[in-house]
Amino acid sequence: MGTGPFKNTISVCKGVDAFPAVNPHAVEQFKNKRGKKLSVAEYVDGIRSGNRIVLSQAITIIESSLAKHQTLAKEIITQCLPYSGNSKRIGITGVPGVGKSTFIETLGKYITLQGHNLAVLTIDPSSERSKGSILGDKTRMEELSVDPRAFIRPSPSAGSLGGVARKTRETIILCEAAGFDTIFIETVGVGQSETAVHSMVDFFLLLMLAGAGDELQGIKRGIMEMADTIAITKADQANILKAEQAKMQYQNAIHLFQPSESKWVPQVITCSAINHIGTDVIWNIIEEYFKVTHDNGTFLQKRRTQSKYWFHETIDEILNNHFYNHPFIKTNIEDYEEKVLQGNMTSYEAAFSLINKYFSK
Ligand code: GDP
Repeated sequence: MGTGPFKNTISVCKGVDAFPAVNPHAVEQFKNKRGKKLSVAEYVDGIRSGNRIVLSQAITIIESSLAKHQTLAKEIITQCLPYSGNSKRIGITGVPGVGKSTFIETLGKYITLQGHNLAVLTIDPSSERSKGSILGDKTRMEELSVDPRAFIRPSPSAGSLGGVARKTRETIILCEAAGFDTIFIETVGVGQSETAVHSMVDFFLLLMLAGAGDELQGIKRGIMEMADTIAITKADQANILKAEQAKMQYQNAIHLFQPSESKWVPQVITCSAINHIGTDVIWNIIEEYFKVTHDNGTFLQKRRTQSKYWFHETIDEILNNHFYNHPFIKTNIEDYEEKVLQGNMTSYEAAFSLINKYFSK
């Protein structure tokens, strides 16, 4: 309350309780581990027992570029591998503003209430955010970030898409070893990251807005072809009719696509995350997808094809890093760029000349 001339003019609103910035369950576990350097066996035991702090620390080690961390990360991953593979890996994508985080919060709460343990990982190679670990993301998914059955881990801080994707795949392994039976991999923005996510998930969900042209949403036909289900978001209030119309258009469009190897027929549905409409429908579709693909054998086949894909991607990444980090290349690459820019060399000539020198070093 104000005093003097301002008496009764200023009042204090009580407001609402803010969500804690740190997951309280994680804090509880953190108290036991703070400051202690762990051995590989302790990391693996901690992860296997579902200790969020140890899991978060291990993910931070995976994300680190320090050589000693990379060696440690490899050992942890190798020991977690036998306990991995048992989750439903679900990719969720859509343009910024389509309602991804609201949707993930609603679907996430729906399944944790059913007893599922959910990890939400994000791929955002453009992100400058660093280590979200136990902080979660304060402004997004406020309820899930304090749900004892959920674990939210934002994208590793900026890096090449290949690097970010590898770290996310390794994080999936740790999360599975920690007992998470459902993993959402959210990708922000539109572009190549969808392809990377598609190659590491079993089920790919595309969120679309009604009434916005595909061009506007930056969604390429190829991305629609990858989708196992398209959900038109925000189907509420004045938007319901538009959402139903969009559903019909997408249904017509996806019938023209080649059937996928899994023989799964992509579904198109409408939903409203804020009104909790369509959440059960989507979850039923996802469960049905897993049943169908397990029964017809395409689930395992897809995982094996993905492993082969990542085998080649990893080779590419290692070779690429080795090349660009080589001292000779680091010193000389700008000269070659300049020659190409000045028109003194063609791009092919420059590339072959530099690569030949690299191999002869
Ligand atoms: P993201 O950028 O894709 O993660 O989108 P957000 O989840 O942050 O949502 C963007 C905006 O759309 C926010 O203002 C949300 O409140 C709103 N929104 C999300 N889901 C719904 C919904 O189901 N219905 C309506 N009407 N608005 C929604």
